[in-house]
Amino acid sequence: MYAEVIIDQDAKALDKVFEYIVPDDLPARVGMRAIVPFGARYIQGFIVALKENCDYDKSKLRAISSLVEDFSAIKPEMLSLMKFMAEKYHLKLASILRLFLPSEMREGKVKELFITKYILNSEADTTLSKSAKKQQEIVDYLKENLSATSSELSEKFGASAVKALAEKGIILKQKEQINRTPWIMQEGFKKVQLNPMQQNAVDTIRENKTYLLHGVTGSGKTEVYMHLIEKELSKGKNAIMLVPEISLTPQIMANFKSRFGDSVALLHSGLSAGERFDEWKRLFSGQARIAIGARSAIFAPLENLGIIIIDEEHEQSYISESNPRYNTHDIATFRAKYNACPLLLGSATPSVESYEKAKKGEYTLIELPVRANGKDMPKIQIIDMINELRAGNTGIFSSQLVSDLAKVINDKKQAMIFINRRGYASFMRCRECGYIAKCSDCDVSLVYHREDNRLKCHYCGKQFKVLDKCPQCGSENIKQGAVGTEKVVQELRNIFPNVKVLRMDNDTTSTKNAHQKILNEFKNTLPAILVGTQMIAKGHDFENVVLVGIVDADQSLYQTDYRSTERTFQLITQVSGRAGRSQDEGKVVLQTYAPRHYVYKFASNYDYKGFFKKEENIREVASFPPFSRIIRVLFADTDENYVRDLLKLCYNNAIKLKEKYPNEIIYMDAMKSPIKRMQNKFRYQILMRVRLEYADEIEKDLFEIVDKASKNSVFFEINPQNLS
Ligand code: ADP
Ligand code: ZN
Ligand code: ZN
Repeated sequence: MYAEVIIDQDAKALDKVFEYIVPDDLPARVGMRAIVPFGARYIQGFIVALKENCDYDKSKLRAISSLVEDFSAIKPEMLSLMKFMAEKYHLKLASILRLFLPSEMREGKVKELFITKYILNSEADTTLSKSAKKQQEIVDYLKENLSATSSELSEKFGASAVKALAEKGIILKQKEQINRTPWIMQEGFKKVQLNPMQQNAVDTIRENKTYLLHGVTGSGKTEVYMHLIEKELSKGKNAIMLVPEISLTPQIMANFKSRFGDSVALLHSGLSAGERFDEWKRLFSGQARIAIGARSAIFAPLENLGIIIIDEEHEQSYISESNPRYNTHDIATFRAKYNACPLLLGSATPSVESYEKAKKGEYTLIELPVRANGKDMPKIQIIDMINELRAGNTGIFSSQLVSDLAKVINDKKQAMIFINRRGYASFMRCRECGYIAKCSDCDVSLVYHREDNRLKCHYCGKQFKVLDKCPQCGSENIKQGAVGTEKVVQELRNIFPNVKVLRMDNDTTSTKNAHQKILNEFKNTLPAILVGTQMIAKGHDFENVVLVGIVDADQSLYQTDYRSTERTFQLITQVSGRAGRSQDEGKVVLQTYAPRHYVYKFASNYDYKGFFKKEENIREVASFPPFSRIIRVLFADTDENYVRDLLKLCYNNAIKLKEKYPNEIIYMDAMKSPIKRMQNKFRYQILMRVRLEYADEIEKDLFEIVDKASKNSVFFEINPQNLS
């Protein structure tokens, strides 16, 4: 027999299938990891296929040395997924396979996955010589206890006695079968009665299709997810539910644990490698049947899936931006198809891309238009900060927000102040009229680069002089820069010296459990103000929060990204959803320098459909995704001359594609990346925007050009979230 093996190494030259002989006595199976001779070394690989014949010169083939473990760590579905990902993302095979295994299993750190125990061999003669006292004790022990692990016996009776008995065949190793655990509803769990709309959603979602659940914040989507999972478990199937990392609040986890108990395996970044491995094992063996986690949980080793759910499907974090790059939606679609189960995408603010697919009938749209508790959404008041400036208020807060905060404090309630700091890029804005410097070619905001004091377009690379005067109104009060959380906290403490002000951002949550400490303190203090970034935008359910202030809503609006308006809409909706979640009515104060921007009109009315229509139109006219495809090829190397030459070579070949596809390539250029050097590597890129027709072909051609020229693997990105 012959095996096709993928070597577990990163080098580009090894990124293919190697053939080995399988020795007759080796119980090799597809999906197992094996040790193989390679050159002068022995290295680990994955057996991806077995066959009776092989086309190579058999005399030159070498044989597999041993198996890493006696089970297939990579299941057949994952092997198919590997092929799919390699084709779609141009990733190396080994790097994909590594995504499927917990880090504890790599680098020879593997531990036993199944418990093996010793039992007495019923067919062996158990009479022992008088001198073998320890061995006799083991036999007696096993007669009484039936089975025991090797370490248990060694500890009690000594390893040599265990070994001697095993060699004589008196005791045998037996794998303890871990049975699929039946799922039991946890005791004391109060089941919520679904409202008719939720029930309709649960009843509808059962086919092998993709469903888009568009439900406003607080509409009870989580309850729908739980009912669906329950339904599938009772049919004997398993489930994967993905949530964005920041939504993996202890609240959500407790919720699922209390309902599904040990059937749930939680995979999140707070786990140690060992804990992650334990959860993985429970899924692999069928002990746990629901995988809940962030992006990478889509690779959970569950078979027989009954449903896959992606909550907050619009979230950026579902796209992996470091290698290996992949889009969770694609993987989920693949696995749902493979398992012939439904894929459910849920959001209060679906991505334009997904909603477009629902519109075209590719996804089935289901709506939950009202909150489960029947309450209205909080009212959003838009404050024009230019008016504030004209009135002499140069502070961070509008007079409206200050007076609303004063009322909250007086009523002993709570407020959240949200600062949008998702990109670090800063743009240039006129403080008088709100004008923002934009690229003349791309209609995206320019980014201020301090080191060379220039404004740059992150889409086409064009550079502009820094403005000293506003081209719109002539004012010289034109600045770059953004307000940070620290400054906001400081100012709040000045205005309200006796009120508890808490801060939550990357700086204050770097230590373990810091998150929870801040949230607990906030929860237990009345009145209090919580200042934070994206971290406070979703998931939290504080009943005393009656006011949400959005300090500088425009921040995400002027990021250099065609998705920036969409993100602004999503953020406002999410943040607003934090207010008025229980008895008291909530309110949102939204401060902006561009009050007439369409995003604020639609967001303040919670008009997703209106927003979508407008945004769809703009993207279609400007040929941005989903009406085109953006391809970025990133070259990075420590040797700048090498990357620059490589870029030139590739670009000179790529430019010929324009002849082949004269109408399909909307834009193509080569340039330095906005972040020119990262981790000591110089970064250059080719950017391309192409029409959807022939996009696959162009992508493939471009990949071939680049792959042929480069000694290392290159990073291909489709519709990247971030062009830095
Ligand atoms: P979403 O995920 O859509 O934002 P949640 O699932 O968190 O909404 O639900 C919001 C609140 O409404 C939760 O406190 C939840 O317990 C409650 N809820 C959900 N469904 C119902 C229902 N059918 N009846 C009563 N309360 C419900
Ligand atoms: Zn430009
Ligand atoms: Zn101006």
